[in-house]
Amino acid sequence: MKNIKLVVKTKSKSYPIYFGNNILGKINYLIKKNLPEVKKICIIFDNKLSKQILQKFLRSLKGYEITIFKLSSSEKNKNFKVANRIIEKLLSNNFNRSDCIISLGGGVLGDLSAFIANLTKRGLKLINVPTTLLSQVDASIGGKTAVNSDQGKNLIGTYYQPDFVISDVSILKTLPKREIISGYGEILKHSLIQDRNFFFWLLKNGKKIINRTSPNNLTSAIVKSCKIKSAIVNKDEKEKNLRMILNFGHTFGHGFERAKNFSKTLNHGEAVLLGMLVASDFSHKKKQLSLNDLKLIKDHYKNLKLPMDIDKVFKKSDVSKIINFMQKDKKNLNKKINLILLKKIGKATKPKNFMINSKEIKNFLNTYYH
Ligand code: NAD
Repeated sequence: MKNIKLVVKTKSKSYPIYFGNNILGKINYLIKKNLPEVKKICIIFDNKLSKQILQKFLRSLKGYEITIFKLSSSEKNKNFKVANRIIEKLLSNNFNRSDCIISLGGGVLGDLSAFIANLTKRGLKLINVPTTLLSQVDASIGGKTAVNSDQGKNLIGTYYQPDFVISDVSILKTLPKREIISGYGEILKHSLIQDRNFFFWLLKNGKKIINRTSPNNLTSAIVKSCKIKSAIVNKDEKEKNLRMILNFGHTFGHGFERAKNFSKTLNHGEAVLLGMLVASDFSHKKKQLSLNDLKLIKDHYKNLKLPMDIDKVFKKSDVSKIINFMQKDKKNLNKKINLILLKKIGKATKPKNFMINSKEIKNFLNTYYH
């Protein structure tokens, strides 16, 4: 497989994403090339990853002063307290702005590391090495940093773009299938909101991606997904308008996740997959999405055995709780809930066109319980 480079060009910063198979050993070369002034490196490492990955990194990074934090990747660790503990350590180790943080983990550690990099001395260098499919196709691009609050998910955060990203498909070999499905949800989302041809390509190749039987197909899907997301982020880095379409399925999804109190029984990607299904149904109800397109989406879910049974995941009595959390979503401008819907496969509705009364959404969610 050929190595591929994609440059994300936002208003605040341009940076490369390096895609390839087995390219982690290039970290030293890439730091020397992109960040020649780095002397100290802090690695924030997901302790579920194999030790060999960290060792490979450390061998490659000889000569730098290294600080390592091994964390478990849990939403409960994505908080101010953990961020503060790491920042204090970096300050006491005299990290300065030309030094860098490397996030070696999925979206949880990626969001946390970027938050820390942004706040420490108003900005350290940041390298993102996403190790889940979801973080390779979504969380590592676009510069959103976040920690969770007791009031909801990702409610505290900033925008801070990395200096570069290494997206290595070989690191996904150890990822549990459930996490692959979770990342597939974001790939599917990118096709649904922006690229009808990509959706039809996924109809053909989705199974191979989920079963990881073709590294080439997997890489193509990752690169395509990153191209779609980065094109949107390049136009609207700070989510003033267009970028909101990336929230398709997420307003419901965040409500679902929060209603489960971030429990491992429903991970982020699964919540988003359920959210996209409900948002597609709602798009049809609002006379946006045709029945034919809705059927294509649902058949794809069934074919790939993607999560779709809201009534098995939540009780009817949970609906009010879900709505409560949906109302706290950052994208709401007033008491109404700001939803991104589908006009058709490959085209999302315009942001702010569907500001829906919470009662209407509640009634709609109740229709899943007969
Ligand atoms: P995650 O980081 O929790 O990783 C999922 C699980 O996989 C964890 O148990 C982790 O330990 C394990 N894991 C990671 N890499 C592995 C590997 N290579 N092999 C084996 N196990 C591995 O979850 P995620 O799905 O990557 O990210 C979800 C988070 O990303 C959420 O917090 C969400 O809010 C955030 N997110 C952020 C953005 C953004 O734009 N910043 C976008 C989407 C999602």
